[in-house]
Amino acid sequence: MAQVQRMSRLMVKTLRDDPADAETLSHKLLVRAGYVRRNSAGIWTWLPLGKKVLDNVSRVVREEMDAIGAQEVLLPALLPKEPYEASARWEEYGDLLFRLKDRKGAEYLLGPTHEEIFTLVVKDQVSSYKDLPVMLYQIQTKYRDEARPRSGVLRGREFQMKDSYSFDTTDEGLAESYRLHRQAYQKIFARLGLDYRIVSAVSGAMGGSASEEFLAPAAAGEDTFVDCPNCDYAANTEAVTFALKAVEGAEHPAVEELDTPDTPTIETLAEHLGVPASATLKNLLVKVDGEIVAVGVPGDREVDLGKLGEHLAPAEVELVTAEDFEGREDLVRGYVGPQGLEKVRYIADPRVAPGTSWITGANKEGKHARNVVAGRDFEVDDYLDVVVVQEGDPCPKCGTGLKLDRAIEIGHIFQLGRKYADTFQLDVLGQNGKPVRVTMGSYGIGVSRAVAALAEQSADEQGLCWSKEVAPADVHVVAAGKALQTELALEVSEKLNAAGVRVLVDDRAGVSPGVKFTDAELIGVPQILVAGRRSGERVLELKDRRTGEREELTVDEAIARLTA
Ligand code: ATP
Ligand code: MG
Repeated sequence: MAQVQRMSRLMVKTLRDDPADAETLSHKLLVRAGYVRRNSAGIWTWLPLGKKVLDNVSRVVREEMDAIGAQEVLLPALLPKEPYEASARWEEYGDLLFRLKDRKGAEYLLGPTHEEIFTLVVKDQVSSYKDLPVMLYQIQTKYRDEARPRSGVLRGREFQMKDSYSFDTTDEGLAESYRLHRQAYQKIFARLGLDYRIVSAVSGAMGGSASEEFLAPAAAGEDTFVDCPNCDYAANTEAVTFALKAVEGAEHPAVEELDTPDTPTIETLAEHLGVPASATLKNLLVKVDGEIVAVGVPGDREVDLGKLGEHLAPAEVELVTAEDFEGREDLVRGYVGPQGLEKVRYIADPRVAPGTSWITGANKEGKHARNVVAGRDFEVDDYLDVVVVQEGDPCPKCGTGLKLDRAIEIGHIFQLGRKYADTFQLDVLGQNGKPVRVTMGSYGIGVSRAVAALAEQSADEQGLCWSKEVAPADVHVVAAGKALQTELALEVSEKLNAAGVRVLVDDRAGVSPGVKFTDAELIGVPQILVAGRRSGERVLELKDRRTGEREELTVDEAIARLTA
């Protein structure tokens, strides 16, 4: 049977002051409340209370993964370099990888994520379509040499992740495995008590098709996302798209050239003409696989090179340099306009829709042109949403002005497809006796990060405030100090424990009631039961940590309430 946890014996040392190096709320509180201790940059020890919370998160994750039929395994964290060389991630990860050598000089890494190794495990274990689909997961320590491990356990260099991988023979099968994971994640985060949004993500280096992130809104978050205040739309800033809508019916005067000396930038031009930057059309020149391409966006918007890169991948996008203008009389730096660009591919933002009229470069030094109309004076080769999203941009779903918020990425689900199966030739024998290439999904949850995210979202001025599923105890019994009070506190604690309630009791001698109350608030167990003033009458006070509501109860009432 579980034991009552006694503060007099528990290794927990609370601190009154925030640690000097702490920047985020969760970092400050988890250290102050004695849950974690820093060993070195991004490397943490989980003390008894912290270990309990971490284990509770793991338990919830495990239960929901088991519920969708995923099988738990445990792979090594110390890995040979060859599989990561085969997938090219040994190179691609760059400084993020912890690399090491064994005594014979063979190279290894500490696993940052395990797609390669899981692919090899399945290749070794599975040979027929009859063995699929299969979903495997582990809860394991991961290693990434993060550039700025500053936010406590939110971004560790050593951290706990639940990573799972699905293996299917068909695209429909993969879609189903993905759907199951998505559902399991929704259950997990709801049970943990996290407020979260699911946003479509850009899959980037992982090279997949469908990919979504689970974001927990919090000021300490390092991700920015857009959130619609009106409907359920939420998205990664890079994934927001603006619908292309042609403007019809407007009559525009003919193009007119303007003398605009010394106005090579949008700011100088807008000021010279006395127009808002949004009336101008900015044309950024980039090189796409070495070829110069112009990108047109409204003058008040910035081109998001990440978005542009995603659209044009696998082509490489670079900025132009002075040398690229040599021998190109058609390109007048600072005065480029799409109406004169015959030999250049023109990409434009959907805001530059057919029928919109612009002030833009006249392709002559010191000159601009006005009434330059998309579709009349120039053609757009490709419409791509490439601008940095701004607060107030219309929601793609309902048109309401979007909000930009900060969030913590707590989970990520990917339809990887056949990328790793191709690398390692992961085939199984198909129904017709021919080999079938397997298709994969990969799915992660930041288990240790979730602890910090929960702390961020639920804390108040007094300290941490856990949900029931993750709290290190169900009730924090406080013995105010006198012998009689301690006796009662211990008696009630034992009774509660016998009834299956997880109890932390503050039975410390020589600690003032004030300090004990402050510590109870800081530690954040959801219910606080105080054996105080009326202990002689066997009456205790039950306080809800979150609402602060108090109630006086007899011993029996308190036990009935807490075991309900
Ligand atoms: P981030 O963008 O925050 O660096 P990521 O996209 O690189 O994260 P994934 O490779 O998708 O992370 O890893 C799966 C999950 O592991 C993430 O959703 C996150 O919750 C968690 N995670 C990633 N890096 C860390 C870290 N350094 N410390 C703690 N948790 C992490
Ligand atoms: Mg991610």
